[in-house]
Amino acid sequence: MTTITLSNQKGGVGKTTTALNLGIGLVNEKKKVLLIDTDPQASLTIALGWRQPEKLPITLADVMEQIIAGREIDPTEGILHHNEGVDLMPSSIALSGTENSLFNAMNRERVLKCYVDAIAKEYDYVLIDSMPSLGMLSLNALTASDRVIIPSQPNYLSAKGLELLLSTITKVKRQINPNLTVGGILLTMVDNRTNYAKGMAKLVREDYGSRLPIYETEIPMSVRTSEISAVGSSIYAYDKSGKAAEAYLAFTKEVLSEERRIKQYQADKSR
Ligand code: ATP
Ligand code: MG
Repeated sequence: MTTITLSNQKGGVGKTTTALNLGIGLVNEKKKVLLIDTDPQASLTIALGWRQPEKLPITLADVMEQIIAGREIDPTEGILHHNEGVDLMPSSIALSGTENSLFNAMNRERVLKCYVDAIAKEYDYVLIDSMPSLGMLSLNALTASDRVIIPSQPNYLSAKGLELLLSTITKVKRQINPNLTVGGILLTMVDNRTNYAKGMAKLVREDYGSRLPIYETEIPMSVRTSEISAVGSSIYAYDKSGKAAEAYLAFTKEVLSEERRIKQYQADKSR
């Protein structure tokens, strides 16, 4: 099982959209996938069609509170099943209270990892959607993960913002989770209609490409993609032959082949 976090403290860069379409992309490639919504805004939960998360009987807040209280959990409890085959541990606004409880919790960075470890054997992939901050919930997401993917819009990629994220990732890797590796930056909402935007994507590759992996696939700006959260489905179901569906499919394949490469490398290393 591999756990991947979509992380970027900048808001509105496509984390949730990528969690959803990579998740269902992997399901379409015959993988068993759990999505975990760790954002109290619950955008992923809502985008998958659960429009009133506060009315759900069990959400991630309940699960994490149980773990913090030291009680045993049934890890399958509360998991929702989407009609495109992906599973979801939903979020709700109650999770913002949980973020506060985390501060005084024992092993406060590892609470989400406890949950992921408990559910691991049921899935091939767990994808974690993070909130736009580097607070306790985001640290929990990084601590629970093998891989972090950084969605970013090329024209808003700030060197300072990226620096802060990378130094946080490095700290988590050194102090808590040596397993963590950066999968790469995923360029999202790339507007290929203008030369300016195309040039920005190219510049990002030149400026950051030597320091950080950048996925070859670029997710194009597409109105159809911005509509999916209102219909509760993936881009594959909503606009199958569109260019965003094609891009998310290519990205899914890139993640799968990267996974094979990393596993091979680890196998060779341990031989
Ligand atoms: P937050 O930081 O608030 O959690 P986020 O990083 O999860 O945001 P999304 O919610 O995925 O970002 O996307 C931000 C907005 O951009 C949403 O309204 C979404 O529908 C839209 N969007 C995402 N991807 C695309 C795209 N490829 N083309 C056009 N619009 C997009
Ligand atoms: Mg989001």
